[in-house]
Formats: sequence, structure tokens, C-alpha cells
Amino acid sequence: MPHRTENDPHKFRRRGVLFVLSSPSGAGKSTIARKLLAANSFLEMSVSYTTRPMRPGEVDGVDYHFVDLERFREMVSNNEFLEWAHVFDHRYGTPRATVEKILASGRDVLFDIDWQGAQQLFQLAGGDVVRVFILPPSLKILHERLIKRATDSTAVIDARMARATAEVSHWDGYDYVLVNDHVDQCYETVHTILKAERVRRSRQTGLIGFIRGLNK
Ligand code: ADP
Ligand code: 5GP
Repeated sequence: MPHRTENDPHKFRRRGVLFVLSSPSGAGKSTIARKLLAANSFLEMSVSYTTRPMRPGEVDGVDYHFVDLERFREMVSNNEFLEWAHVFDHRYGTPRATVEKILASGRDVLFDIDWQGAQQLFQLAGGDVVRVFILPPSLKILHERLIKRATDSTAVIDARMARATAEVSHWDGYDYVLVNDHVDQCYETVHTILKAERVRRSRQTGLIGFIRGLNK
């Protein structure tokens, strides 16, 4: 992944953070992602491609790029995805060009992808990736949140619940695991993680020059 200049107050060059948020569907990752994006002008969302049908209220190019299976397969064979996976009988993929463009513009990238995506991204970009997993306080509360969100049919909600336990079993593939009990508190913790990861020494490629300057 390319190095870049970041507009943090210290002005060191640093490597961009690939910040992954995963959770069982309904645990609150989109809510937290929205808050993070609103508070961080140097963070940009990676908008995935998917073959799943658009939900009411979703916007093509904003929530996802919605494509048919043929187009998705073509993109796979053209190596246009950094990672892709089957989720809920559909395919989802992270576009390589978008991520490279965001990093080259000096921003960090936010990913709302599942454990398969987190795993593939980690294989590819190792230390640049920060993986955060969000748990619901209980499965009962997860179910209530899916009902309250009112975006899915009962059958889809049942399928998401059936998958939740399997999703949760991948908690150990993450760097941070949090419980989204109170959304503001959980968001604050996620934001703190992002801020801390930005100043991790291994990302500060401009640090050596700064230290040399101090010693002059
Ligand atoms: P995900 O993106 O993980 O599928 P969402 O962010 O869409 O989940 O959240 C699912 C629903 O739960 C939404 O209606 C959201 O407003 C609500 N929600 C999220 N976090 C909390 C929380 N801590 N307490 C109560 N409701 C929450
Ligand atoms: P939904 O259909 O609810 O929007 O998303 C279903 C699941 O697919 C979520 O867990 C979401 O994180 C995951 N997902 C979305 N985009 C991608 C992607 O590009 N790659 C992978 N691996 N998972 C994704």
C-alpha cells in the first residue's frame, strides 16, 4: 500500500490505515461507521460491489455498487477486487482501484466487510490493517435491533440470526473486540482506536526525519 502525507497536526508522513469494522448483521457497525465518517474528514468509506438486490432506501454507488453476477464474475477475473466473498448467498467485493485512490489522496479507508474480507485484507496488507469486531450485548438484543431497523423481511431477519453465531465465532480474527451496548460509548471507543492506530510508530514513515531534525 502506498505511503502518503497526512494532515495530522504533527505533519509526519505515515502509512494509511485500512480500518475494518465487522459484526453480525444488526449489531450496529453501519451506525458506528456513519459516526466515524462524520467526525473524520481524513477517513473515507470503501464502497463495495454486491450482487444482492438493492434494499428500499439504498442508493447505488453510495451504499454499494449493485451489479449482476456476470459483471461481478468479470471483475473477479480482471483482478479488480482486493478481496471478495460469498455472504448470504450473494457476492460482495472491495474494489482495488477505489482503495488505492483513497490511500493515494492521503486518507484512511473504512471497510464494512465480513470476517472473510478482514482475513483476505490482512493477508494482503498485514500491518496496515486494523480489524475491529463489534458484538451485540446478546442475541435477543440483536434480534430486536434487526426488527427495529425494519429493512428486512422476517425470513431475511431469521437468516441473519441463523448466521450470527457463525459470524461471532470469528472474533479471534480481529485486533479489537467490543460490545455495542450504548452506541455513543462504543463509537467513542472505536474512534479512540482509530486515533491511536494513526500514531502507531510503525506507520510514522516521517518519524526518522523528524528525529534527525531534533538532533541537529
Ligand atoms: P449493522 O450495520 O451492523 O447491520 P446497524 O448499524 O444497521 O447494524 O444497526 C441495526 C439497528 O440497531 C439500527 O436500527 C440502529 O439504529 C440500531 N442500533 C445500533 N446500535 C445500537 C445501540 N447501541 N443501541 C440500540 N440500538 C442500536
Ligand atoms: P448487507 O447485505 O447487510 O449490506 O451486508 C452483509 C454482510 O456483507 C455484512 O457483514 C457486510 O459487512 C459484508 N460485506 C459488505 N461488503 C463486503 C465486501 O466487499 N466484502 C466482504 N467480504 N464482505 C462484505
